[in-house]
Amino acid sequence: MTAVAAPPRTDVVALARELAPAFAERATAHDRDATFPHENLAELVAGGYTAMTVPAEYGGPAVSLADLCAAQQILAGACASTAFAVNMHVHGLAMIARVGGESAGRACRAVLDGAVIAGGFSEPGVGGNWWHPTTRADEVDGGFVLNGRKGFFTGYPGATHLFLSAAVTDDRGLPEPVAFLIPKPQRGVRVTAEWDAAGMRATGSHSLALEDLYVDSRWAVGERGALPMLFMLGVHWAWCSFASCFVGIARAALDHVVETQRRRVISVIGKPNAQLPGIQFRIAEMAAKVAAAEAHLDAAIHAEHEDVDPLTHYVDMSVMKTSVTKLAHEVVTLGMQVQGGSGLASGDPLQRMYRDVVAGLLVPPATDVVLEWSGKQALGVPIFAEPRWEG
Ligand SMILES: Cc1cc2nc3c(=O)[nH]c(=O)nc-3n(C[C@H](O)[C@H](O)[C@H](O)COP(=O)(O)OP(=O)(O)OC[C@H]3O[C@@H](n4cnc5c(N)ncnc54)[C@H](O)[C@@H]3O)c2cc1C
Repeated sequence: MTAVAAPPRTDVVALARELAPAFAERATAHDRDATFPHENLAELVAGGYTAMTVPAEYGGPAVSLADLCAAQQILAGACASTAFAVNMHVHGLAMIARVGGESAGRACRAVLDGAVIAGGFSEPGVGGNWWHPTTRADEVDGGFVLNGRKGFFTGYPGATHLFLSAAVTDDRGLPEPVAFLIPKPQRGVRVTAEWDAAGMRATGSHSLALEDLYVDSRWAVGERGALPMLFMLGVHWAWCSFASCFVGIARAALDHVVETQRRRVISVIGKPNAQLPGIQFRIAEMAAKVAAAEAHLDAAIHAEHEDVDPLTHYVDMSVMKTSVTKLAHEVVTLGMQVQGGSGLASGDPLQRMYRDVVAGLLVPPATDVVLEWSGKQALGVPIFAEPRWEG
């Protein structure tokens, strides 16, 4: 385990505020060296943060989605990589818990004991189309043998458990996606590339090869073929948590730029940059976009999540994530214009935020797929009709 977990806390927003200053201080070095923030994760486990989505029936604090998102925004403002890595864990567990049954009980007990989950659904061969895994799960006595590749496995260096997908072959010879939650294995998983990217550099989003990885059948999460439904019904946990990371970066960028421009005096102007109309207009635009992003996220957090049509629910949450991350990217881009050349210097955290926030446009769900589904839904065109571009 990463660390011994403390009794779960319900005040995760206060906990995030306590931990954020130290995370912010360590962020520069982890970003520079592309090192995984193990000490941050250990503090999150020790403080009970990682247990926040354990439901009450399993002895957890059952923190609300609103508090999860508020806490994640605070962490993201300090160290977006840490927030993004622990996001995989908190929302992943919420989705597993929602499925219920033995796998949920096992996962929750492990997390209360300090376990940390990383999730791997995208693959080099399918990109973000992760309802169609090319990783194969061949049935053997008592379980499955998995072979395939996983890209972008965020949080892998700090994980004790892996939540991943593979396809079994059904009676008709067709692939059925299955999710598994497995203790991080000693054998059968090889890191093929360590994460070294332009943004989210401290997330340890390694690429993996699964090579004859034995998986016990009791580690399956939900029924065979149930993976798409598992995602659709629990998607508010995922996309609200994802969106929070990028809203958190945008809010931190705005605060940082405001603070800098109030202090900065250029001799030609002779007074603080804050007096310049161009600075004022862009700050106003940034603030409006942050408010729009926060409002859209808030509406998604407080929308109906239980009595829903699964597909409509999935599309609504996906549209929110798409629009919020686009706004967040625009906010930080405007911030760079306000800050000027010094914003690009390695000593200014804004350049890290600029590189981190772009990940929001790339992480799931794939923007074009969301726009297609949402547009088709609005126009009354069946989403899954084939061929795809004709009615
Ligand atoms: C920092 C970071 C961390 C990540 N962490 C994780 C993780 O922990 N676990 C995980 O599973 N994944 C993770 N991902 C991967 C992410 O989930 C996406 O799957 C991945 O970025 C998309 O794959 P790709 O970039 O190869 O793009 P592709 O999926 O190949 O997409 C490339 C382009 O094609 C478009 N496109 C793709 N498919 C379609 C389609 N069907 N219809 C129309 N247009 C399409 C996309 O919109 C995009 O513009 C992470 C990504 C990033 C950037």
